[in-house]
Amino acid sequence: MAKQDDDFKKVISHAKEYGYVFQSSEIYDGLSAVYDYAQNGSELKKNIREYWWKAMVHLNENIVGIDAAIFMHPTTWKASGHVDAFNDPLIDNKDSKKRYRADVLIEDHVAKIEAKIEKEVAKAAKRFGDAFDKEQFLATNQRVLDYQEKADGILKRMGRSLENEDLADVKSLIEELDISCPMSGSKNWTDVKQFNLMFGTKLGASAESAMDLYLRPETAQGIFVNFLNVQKTGRMKIPFGIAQTGKAFRNEIVARQFIFRMREFEQMEMQFFIRPGSQQEWYEKWKENRLKWHLSLGMGEENYRFHDHEKLAHYADAAADIEFRFPFGFKELEGIHSRTDFDLSQHEKHSNKKLQYFDPELKENYVPYVVETSIGLDRMFLAVFAHSLQEEELDNNTTRTVLKLPAVLAPTKAAVLPLVKKDGLPDVAHKIIEDLKWDFNVTYDEKDAVGRRYRRQDAVGTPFCITVDHQSLEDQTVTIRHRDTMEQRRVAISEVKGIIHKEVDMRSWLQRMQ
Ligand code: ATP
Repeated sequence: MAKQDDDFKKVISHAKEYGYVFQSSEIYDGLSAVYDYAQNGSELKKNIREYWWKAMVHLNENIVGIDAAIFMHPTTWKASGHVDAFNDPLIDNKDSKKRYRADVLIEDHVAKIEAKIEKEVAKAAKRFGDAFDKEQFLATNQRVLDYQEKADGILKRMGRSLENEDLADVKSLIEELDISCPMSGSKNWTDVKQFNLMFGTKLGASAESAMDLYLRPETAQGIFVNFLNVQKTGRMKIPFGIAQTGKAFRNEIVARQFIFRMREFEQMEMQFFIRPGSQQEWYEKWKENRLKWHLSLGMGEENYRFHDHEKLAHYADAAADIEFRFPFGFKELEGIHSRTDFDLSQHEKHSNKKLQYFDPELKENYVPYVVETSIGLDRMFLAVFAHSLQEEELDNNTTRTVLKLPAVLAPTKAAVLPLVKKDGLPDVAHKIIEDLKWDFNVTYDEKDAVGRRYRRQDAVGTPFCITVDHQSLEDQTVTIRHRDTMEQRRVAISEVKGIIHKEVDMRSWLQRMQ
């Protein structure tokens, strides 16, 4: 645990030191769980958004994108169920006065049991060596089976109690499991209560005429209310999807873990409209497709897993998370939800407008079913950033800190460095930048010895350094250094663009999905 905490602290301080993420309004001591993206962070975030948009909208003939407003008519949230049911169960510790999400306390307890299983697996793998069969071990080892049964039983009971709104049983479960406050160790708990997560605000000039509004807690509803507009104007045929990215707001009870859980964050969502009855098939397809998108970034298959939901939201008939191995363990990165016709039917009811589709093949009208994919852009940022931050032992017994961002996402693709600040080398460097800047985000750096500049670019995640030296003046060549391998090659200036392009081109990264 201490190592995990330590690694995570390093991620947070690196994000600040290298201009990725700052605490919001830091000069006023910050605002809890609100963050600003800095000069490099905003580029990385934009690149992740583009990588998603390209894969989702441009590469799918039957998916289009929109950009709906954050403010929506307040009835939207009544219809969607958010006014009545967008709650988290919270529990306070009477001694430490700390507030927790009851379900998170229980899930953390289960994670500890799962960690014991992983430990058993690691022990057995060591004992049996090459002959070790993990699947068989998991299916037959009695100790592992007992742990698994215990973990499953707890999650099942929690899911049932939450679904039935039996908050007293959620509290009983916390007591039976002997869960204590992570801050103080105390087991002196209050009852579990529901807490609505939406932020309210007002629209209008005078107090009498003002209308109560909510800041949207998800982007999805902007898609549902526009379903028919898009279908008609885009002449879309089912199955088709509508995608969008944008801000969402939630008054999270426990907002810690940096940008993992924020009060203002950004989502990238896609609602896929389908024939009723085909939801299982599309749900499976989208699970597979979204995992492929993640894997295309090359961050290691072993760092992802699916988690099927026991407790389903009020709108869903199936739901799974893609979990990623964050520095603090496996946690939800993306959700894939089969939302049935819940949202469109509810909006029909509350608006008195038909939200139906005439299916020319079936020759009938129906309210489409929906499978949704929903990922937090900030969470994806954290996954990419934390995974990429590495300390490497070098041959000469030194270490280097390197941010091995997937090159397609890196904020700056190349740094151009004149070896010295004189003899016309800066002019050559600027000329190279003049040419490259039309294709890539590039930067110029002439301060300090070139070795230190390389280290700085490694830490900031720049895939290439291009060094201009005296030989460049004579034969129009430069040294190009690769961030990950540290390999340096002498190449003609005219070749540089092609070399960078090959490594950062979104096309070749996304083609890995096929
Ligand atoms: P959690 O269980 O972590 O609260 P959720 O199941 O409520 O998440 P969804 O409503 O399914 O999340 O939202 C879809 C995605 O939006 C999540 O997978 C996550 O990536 C992102 N997300 C949700 N809440 C936050 C938040 N407070 N801060 C950052 N990202 C968030």
